[in-house]
Amino acid sequence: MLGSNFYKFLFFITYFLKYFLGLPKLYSLKEKNMPSLTEENYLKAIYNLSLSGTKPVLTNELADALKTKAASATDMVKKLASKKFISYKKYYGVQLTAKGQAEALMVIRKHRLWETFLVQKLDFTWDEVHEVAEQLEHIHSKRLIEKIDSFLGYPKTDPHGDPIPNSKGKLPIQKTLGCDQLREGQQATIAAVKDSSSSLLKLLDKMGAYPGKKIKILSRENYDHSTEALLDGKKIFLSKEVAQNILVTE
Ligand SMILES: [Zn+2]
Repeated sequence: MLGSNFYKFLFFITYFLKYFLGLPKLYSLKEKNMPSLTEENYLKAIYNLSLSGTKPVLTNELADALKTKAASATDMVKKLASKKFISYKKYYGVQLTAKGQAEALMVIRKHRLWETFLVQKLDFTWDEVHEVAEQLEHIHSKRLIEKIDSFLGYPKTDPHGDPIPNSKGKLPIQKTLGCDQLREGQQATIAAVKDSSSSLLKLLDKMGAYPGKKIKILSRENYDHSTEALLDGKKIFLSKEVAQNILVTE
């Protein structure tokens, strides 16, 4: 049996660590401030939903976007509010606080840098990277992501043409419009792809419709709004849905 001196010693060590070095305190502080994987996905979804649609974001919309039950979304929303990542009013919806927005933009930054890294350095195709980046975006090492950013030469956009927030969380504003908004005879440059699902990206691959390419609208059908266009001197046909998902700058 261990003598009582041992317990006294143990008590002293714990006391010493806690009050003089503050180690357990630091540890718990770190744990408290760092959002979990699920929390990060919620923050990202709230950010994306508030860009595309209504502000504040409704809990039901959030549940749909994350393919979860409304009750689970409500629980998580309460948790995020208690951590001051969002403000939440019952029946009204949620909004990111400055702290929550910074956190969401950091996850988006990591996601887009990883996608760029996978395409540029590991020869992944642009339709393969989203799923992998969904996992990699949750690595917390700030040093790692800063190294990757500098290794890639501080890219401004990811392989889908989406802008990458900088290390301070600033997102460059890119004014784009859907290809379906262009008039007949109008020329524009492809900037990004709205939907980065692999089926759309594979289709765009076949046409050679990548960010940076010039596109000129030849004609549009009244019946179904499908478009005939010129891409690199080659005639292509775009359904209304595909045209909506190709974002261009004039
Ligand atoms: Zn992605």
